[in-house]
Amino acid sequence: MSTKKHNFYAGPAILPQVVLDQAAEAIREFSGMGLSLLEISHRSKQFEAVISEAESLILELMGLSSDYSVLFLSGGASSQFFMIPMNFLNEGETACYVNSGVWASKAIKEAKLFGNVQVLASSESDHFTYIPKGFEIPKDANYLHITSNNTIYGTQYHEWPESPIPLFCDMSSDIFSRRLNFKSFELIYAGAQKNLGPAGVTLVVIKKSLLDRGKRKLPAMLDYKTHASNGSMYNTPPVFPIYVTLLTLRWIQQLGLEHIEKRNQLKATTLYREIDRNSCFSGPVDLKDRSWMNVVFTAKQADWDPVFLEMCKQAGCVGLAGHRSVGGFRASLYNALELSSVEALVEVMQSFEKKHA
Ligand code: PMP
Repeated sequence: MSTKKHNFYAGPAILPQVVLDQAAEAIREFSGMGLSLLEISHRSKQFEAVISEAESLILELMGLSSDYSVLFLSGGASSQFFMIPMNFLNEGETACYVNSGVWASKAIKEAKLFGNVQVLASSESDHFTYIPKGFEIPKDANYLHITSNNTIYGTQYHEWPESPIPLFCDMSSDIFSRRLNFKSFELIYAGAQKNLGPAGVTLVVIKKSLLDRGKRKLPAMLDYKTHASNGSMYNTPPVFPIYVTLLTLRWIQQLGLEHIEKRNQLKATTLYREIDRNSCFSGPVDLKDRSWMNVVFTAKQADWDPVFLEMCKQAGCVGLAGHRSVGGFRASLYNALELSSVEALVEVMQSFEKKHA
């Protein structure tokens, strides 16, 4: 077998090795059934046990009780960009958004199809290098939508807006990366393919009291009520991604969110310290808004980019090219990435400096 690489991809992304091993085993045979997990009915008691344990673990990790529904949906986080306003923004009503990056902009664009959208603050004119703060939130809007971690730009909320209206959050790229007061959100969603599992399932955690607020007649599949009242089994759910998510949740539970948070903070600090010290690189993001999950940095000379990426590749560090819309470099340090991978990257940065500074 080839040696495992240091995986800095932004998503789909690194998963814990134990999760990959257990998932591979379940593909061969699941739960002593004489069948692969890929071959069984989603209505089997074995899969019902999977989805029910995954739901309970999510509520437990978030410290939430049964006044929230946990849904496993398809269509990616991008489908939540329209499902949210479709369900909770009726014509003539207003929803508030903060524009902190491309994903937030896409959510805003979709919401405008359904009702009035008030963008309370935006960092677009500064290339999304900071998290907008200090804005007023109108009390009569339906909800406020934010993006906790901006995967492309490497910014992250470290303090939260005090919202007098329901707070909705896209946590696709930092879910379960740190402890949070999850109770302050009424709706949380995340595509699984960064900190939770493989692509193909999207987690939605929604306060049950919200479910009756929508007035629009909707196709069943696009109505949160359908999925909440059928335990995510109205149609065939993405069985394999949900199982891998369960394995990852067990791994998170075993380590504990506090430990994961400390580990993530240490990884991020290690890399930012090198970016700030190294004479060949710099970081564009406001210091207080730096993301612990996606560390964005640039070389001081543009023609160094391919040279540095090649050196990374030689050292087994992959997935470091910045998003195609911003360039430079991005190191994604999701939960499953070990500190030793960050140290390997820091070593490459130091060798680069010795050759080029
Ligand atoms: N929100 C954020 C913060 C993301 O990082 C992404 C994907 N990278 C999305 C939404 C879109 O997710 P999906 O591809 O699952 O639709």
